[in-house]
Amino acid sequence: MGHSAAMSADLLEAAAAAVADARRIVVLTGAGISTDSGIPDFRGPNGLWTKNPAAEKASKLEHYLSDPEVRAVAWQNRLHTPAWTAEPNDGHRAIVELETQGRLHALVTQNIDGLHQKAGTDPDRVIEVHGTVWWTRCWECDDRRAMAETLDRVRAGEVDPPCVVCGGILKSDTISFGQALVPEVIDRALSVSEECDVLLAVGSTLSVFPAANCVPRAKAAGAQVVIVNGDSTAMDRYADWLLLGQIADILPALVTS
Ligand SMILES: [Zn+2]
Repeated sequence: MGHSAAMSADLLEAAAAAVADARRIVVLTGAGISTDSGIPDFRGPNGLWTKNPAAEKASKLEHYLSDPEVRAVAWQNRLHTPAWTAEPNDGHRAIVELETQGRLHALVTQNIDGLHQKAGTDPDRVIEVHGTVWWTRCWECDDRRAMAETLDRVRAGEVDPPCVVCGGILKSDTISFGQALVPEVIDRALSVSEECDVLLAVGSTLSVFPAANCVPRAKAAGAQVVIVNGDSTAMDRYADWLLLGQIADILPALVTS
């Protein structure tokens, strides 16, 4: 790949200067920021679904809702979700630093692993467009509670624990394939993007919509766009600064200068 080698120190310095001048920063993160924490992406060579096709089937809403066996497999997989033990890395901590400096307007994330909150980002500033594995939601009554409660029931022998309020089907509070995004959450992600002076997109291929629309929305509203990723993204043309390389190296250098 050699992107890190290709990126000049001058480019990083210039981008860092642009970030240093910004007073309201919106950060948009994707899977790439969490791979250094051992959270696998979904479709890469070591991806969750590549190694475990049953997990992909469970991720499709219609299968999950219609087939108790799919749910039983899903609950067993949830016992071993990497997010339970993963630790935030320097990339997550760099975003906390922006908040400490009083310049983080909002953090929009496509990740469901909760690592930003674990790193110390104010949960009120985190907009989880694809939901979170740390909570369950009842498909019938919308009751939302900590995932840990239900995992205890699975460990105690329930193969497909129903909602304690109404008996409905429980699911992790994530957006499955075939499931609509939450309109209020997406609206909030897009409007904060229009309120920033720098949009910093990190570890996302920027190819999943509508989250990726944060980039053109910010740009159209006059923000500068900084993209940090391991590889090219679908939105490179919007970037004022395109920094391709190791996220956990680039991001700290970008925010502390
Ligand atoms: Zn319920």
